[in-house]
Amino acid sequence: MEKTFYIETFGCQMNAHDSEKVVGTLLHEGYTQVETVEAAHYVFYNTCSIRDKAEQKVFNRLQHFKRDAGKGKVFAVIGCVAQQEGEKIFDRAPHVSLVAGSASYTKLPQMLVQLEAGNKRVTGLSLDTDEAFDTPFTRRDNPHRAYITIIEGCDKSCSYCVVPFTRGPERSRTSASVMEEARRLTDSGYSEIQLLGQNVNSYRDPSAAGWDFATLLDRVGTVGGIRRVRFTTSHPRDFVKPIVDAIDSNPNLCNHVHLPVQSGSSRVLEGMQRLYTRDQYMERISWMKNARRPIAITSDIIVGFPGETEKDFEETLSLLDEIQYDSIFSFKYSQRPDTAALQMSDHIPEEEKTRRLTIVQEKQRAIQIRQNSALIGAVEEVNVEGRHEALGLWVGRTSRNRTLNFTHAGPETGAELLGKYVHVHVTRGGPNSLAGETVN
Ligand code: SAM
Ligand code: SF4
Repeated sequence: MEKTFYIETFGCQMNAHDSEKVVGTLLHEGYTQVETVEAAHYVFYNTCSIRDKAEQKVFNRLQHFKRDAGKGKVFAVIGCVAQQEGEKIFDRAPHVSLVAGSASYTKLPQMLVQLEAGNKRVTGLSLDTDEAFDTPFTRRDNPHRAYITIIEGCDKSCSYCVVPFTRGPERSRTSASVMEEARRLTDSGYSEIQLLGQNVNSYRDPSAAGWDFATLLDRVGTVGGIRRVRFTTSHPRDFVKPIVDAIDSNPNLCNHVHLPVQSGSSRVLEGMQRLYTRDQYMERISWMKNARRPIAITSDIIVGFPGETEKDFEETLSLLDEIQYDSIFSFKYSQRPDTAALQMSDHIPEEEKTRRLTIVQEKQRAIQIRQNSALIGAVEEVNVEGRHEALGLWVGRTSRNRTLNFTHAGPETGAELLGKYVHVHVTRGGPNSLAGETVN
C-alpha cells in the first residue's frame, strides 16, 4: 500500500499528457498505479482552472476525502489550480501535502522524496524555469495515438485567461528531441501523433536548427511509419500560410485545424486582447478554404465577455454562418483570478450568458447536421479507436477529426482491428458523428 498511487486528471489534452508523464515518472520511481482512491496511499489530482466550474471539481473531491475516508493517505494537488491557488490550498484542505504547478514537474522526484520523509507541506510553485517537462518515462494511455508536447506555457495575455499565470512563459523543446520522440514512437507501433502546446504556432526551435512550427510539422509528417499528425492549439495571430501549405502537400498531416476565434466582433476581440481583427481571422480562414485538400476547421467561442452587446453577439452568429465550422467548443465567459477582464465594467448577467450560449449551440448544431449530411455517400479512411459493444459498432476517426461509427463484416477480431486504418462508406450523418459500413 505504501508506494501505491491514484491519479485523476481534469481539463485539456496538455493536462492529460502531463499526467502520462507524471505517471511514467512515478512508475520509474518504484510506485504502483491503482484504480481507486481507496486502494491508494498517494492521491494525485491534476487540476484545471480555465473556468470556475473546473476549479470547483477538485475542491469537491478533496472535501469528500477530508474525514475518515482520507485517513492515512497523502493528497497531492498538481496542475493549474495548484499553481493558481498555491499555498492557500493547504488552508482550504489541510489534508493536502503537495501543491505543485506544471512548471515544477521536472523536480517531481525530489518532491516525492520530501513526501516520503513525511513532510506535510511540499510545494513546487516556481514559474521561473526555461525547462520543458520532457521525460523518457512517459506512460501513454493510448496504444496507437500519442501526444508530444512541443511547447509549454503561453506568452500571450488574453484578458480572460489564467493560462499565462498557471503555466508560465513559453518554453519550446528542441526540434531534435521532438523528432527523436516521434521516431521512437513509430518504432514502437504508434501511427498517429498529436503535437501539443497552448500556442503551437509560436513554436521556436531553441537549437541552432531554428525551425519554426510549419517546418517542424512538415518534418514530423515525414517520419517513417507515421500515418497521421495532428496539432493543437493554434493562435490566429501566429497562424501563417506555410502551415496550410504543409497540410496541402503532405497527406500524413491531418486536414483539420483548430483555430479558436473566441468572438466574431473586432471590438470584443480587442477587449480580449486577442491581437487580431475579424478580417484578419477571415484571411486565415480563406487560406484554408482555398487549399487543395478540404480542411476541417474547428473553433472555440466565448459568449458574454464583459461589455459584449447584442450587436457584438450577432457578429459572432454571423461569423458562424460565414465560416460553417465543422465543430466548435462554446463557453460562457467565466471570471478568473488575476486576469485583466476581471477589472472590466459591464459584466453580463448569468441568465443572459446562458441565453447566448444556447443560441450559439443551436445554430452550430444545425450547421453540423448540414455538414455531416453532405458527407453521405463519401468513402472516408478512419483510424479504428474503439468498439461500442452494446451497439455492435466500431468507432473510428477521420483525418478531418470526425467520429465515424461503423459496422464491419470482415473476419478480424477486435484486437486485430483496433488501431488499423480502414475505409468506410458513410451512410448517415448526425450533429456530432457519422455512421457507415466498411468497404471491401
Ligand atoms: N491556448 C488555447 C487558445 O488560445 O485558444 C486554448 C486555451 S483554453 C485551454 C481553451 C479555451 O477555453 C479557450 O480557447 C477559450 O475559448 C476558453 N476559455 C479560456 N478562458 C476562459 C474563461 N475565462 N471563460 C470562458 N472560457 C474560457
Ligand atoms: Fe490563454 Fe490566450 Fe494563451 Fe490561449 S493564447 S492560453 S487563450 S492566454
